[in-house]
Amino acid sequence: MSDARDPVALAARLRAAGCVFAEDEAALLLAEDGDDAALDAMVARRCAGEPLETVLGWARFAGLRVHVEPGVFVPRTRTELLVDLVDELLADGPDDALVVDLCCGTGAVGAAVAARHPAAQVHAADVDPAAVACARHNLPPDRVHAGDLLSALPASLRGRVDVVVANAPYVPTAAIATMPPEARDHEARVALDGGEDGLAVHRRIAEQVRPWLKVGGAVLVETSERQAPTTATLLAAQGLAVRVHRDDERDGTAVVGRLAEDGLS
Ligand code: GLN
Repeated sequence: MSDARDPVALAARLRAAGCVFAEDEAALLLAEDGDDAALDAMVARRCAGEPLETVLGWARFAGLRVHVEPGVFVPRTRTELLVDLVDELLADGPDDALVVDLCCGTGAVGAAVAARHPAAQVHAADVDPAAVACARHNLPPDRVHAGDLLSALPASLRGRVDVVVANAPYVPTAAIATMPPEARDHEARVALDGGEDGLAVHRRIAEQVRPWLKVGGAVLVETSERQAPTTATLLAAQGLAVRVHRDDERDGTAVVGRLAEDGLS
């Protein structure tokens, strides 16, 4: 074994650069294919502060290995709550339910839904061309659409969607500076910045989503515990029946807004 492949030395180098889970990261980096030079290049990128997932080129999400590219929002464990909630919403729906992963980033949520519901028709959309290119590795490329929120979708989906699921940006602009450097320095601003109160994109989703849902369909939005009441109010104002879900274990919060059968909340 060359020195470069010594797990103890590698972990020490990562720890000195500020990596908290240095041993785990060393093991993951050592498990990648490639020669010593390739390993050293990855370690140098990680030590310079790049997220581990973009260095590896993948992230573990909801049991899947999701393709990740530099600059694209790295899937978070808390967002697995959205996938579980989609399961619940689809439980009494058709097998070939139409699901849209909005603000998809890597497309991790859509890919996890597709893995659990193979007959579902999963579409995804993102405004960032880098995210669209990345998501096309994780979902059928022709199902990943580039553009602003719901206007990115083919018009043929209007009024037919069972579930719109969104991990849209919700960090207040002023709070981005307090995010970990991996996020604030390496993830696209457009994936994080939710405007002054963090809810600018939630507001626009709420305004746009209803005509895309079928009767009985739902929109599902990740938010923070603190912002959840406002996210819920925005969806309720569109006549959707809202419920807030909290997952303490994964530190996830999401609001479901359902278009009731009678069209009333
Ligand atoms: N606080 C969130 C996170 O880092 C922000 C994610 C987002 O804006 N979608 O997971």
